[in-house]
Amino acid sequence: ESVVNRIAAGEVIQRPVSAVKELVENSLDAASTSINLTIKDGGLKLIQVSDDGHGIRREDLPILCERHTTSKLSAFEDLQRITSMGFRGEALASMTYVAHVTVTTITKGQLHGYRVSYRDGVMEQEPRPCAAVKGTQIMVENLFYNMAARKKTLQNSSDDYSKIVDVVSRFAIHHTNVSFSCRKHGAVKADVHTVATSSRLDAIRTVYGVSAAHNLIEVQASDNDPSSSIFEMHGYVSNANYAAKKITMVLFINDRLVEWSALKRAIEIVYAATFPKASKPFIYISIVLPPENIDVNVHPTKREVSLLNQEVVIEKIQLVIESTLRNSND
Ligand code: ADP
Ligand code: MG
Repeated sequence: ESVVNRIAAGEVIQRPVSAVKELVENSLDAASTSINLTIKDGGLKLIQVSDDGHGIRREDLPILCERHTTSKLSAFEDLQRITSMGFRGEALASMTYVAHVTVTTITKGQLHGYRVSYRDGVMEQEPRPCAAVKGTQIMVENLFYNMAARKKTLQNSSDDYSKIVDVVSRFAIHHTNVSFSCRKHGAVKADVHTVATSSRLDAIRTVYGVSAAHNLIEVQASDNDPSSSIFEMHGYVSNANYAAKKITMVLFINDRLVEWSALKRAIEIVYAATFPKASKPFIYISIVLPPENIDVNVHPTKREVSLLNQEVVIEKIQLVIESTLRNSND
């Protein structure tokens, strides 16, 4: 059974960055205003995420890392997430099958926190009282220690840390009410560092550099028709002066970070037609869609999103961006 669990877990947590994304989403779900990451060895040795969120109750700790835990937890309120992204409480459980997970947490009004380690879905010992400041710290150590081939493949690639920085950067420009930092273990300087009080443009400037932030145009559209395929869209896209070697597309759908390569291609086409010299744009957009349009049968950990009427949604976004770019050019 444990081999089967490990293989399934390895599917959910494909690389260090998959664990980072899940941990940061959990911290965001816990209403954190500050999320700080420390990474050692591209995430293979250590991924540490500390937040100042609402913490985990003592009575929830024994089942925290069981699969499908979500609905069992007393703090569970977020049914919307299940209907919108099909998620079902597998992330932490999966991590415990392919790494050593240690949780330190304190809930509001408690005098001390608890620390507990997990292996293969279960606690290694009873939670131990410990000193703690507000929130939760999760350490994922020795990722893929029991998956030799996977570990070897990842050890030979140097880009896992940059993938992590990339994902944290995306969260940081979307969640501007949260402070983020991400640094290599032992490093003084953080590679991502945003403060919660900044505007979206300030956050983009801090994370993606001045040239990106100076050459942005705001895009905005909304549609209150209940039968509409898009409810709301807001973001910033680069203008004719922005020059880059590759496209950057940061996309949030219903507040979840997703990849959507069909949309990326569609937007590149708009740029190639409108600003041929700036055909590798920077795009940040946040879209609100009716949850029923998102295909929940796609495995939740697949970053690529699947929508029921893709073409219609893509065309709408293309039209909004195209008219925004043309207006900016006049
Ligand atoms: P899911 O997020 O889908 O519920 P996870 O395995 O990612 O599943 O997390 C399981 C549960 O653990 C969450 O639902 C949440 O209640 C709790 N949890 C995880 N991380 C945190 C955190 N940083 N702060 C508070 N609660 C957390
Ligand atoms: Mg989660």
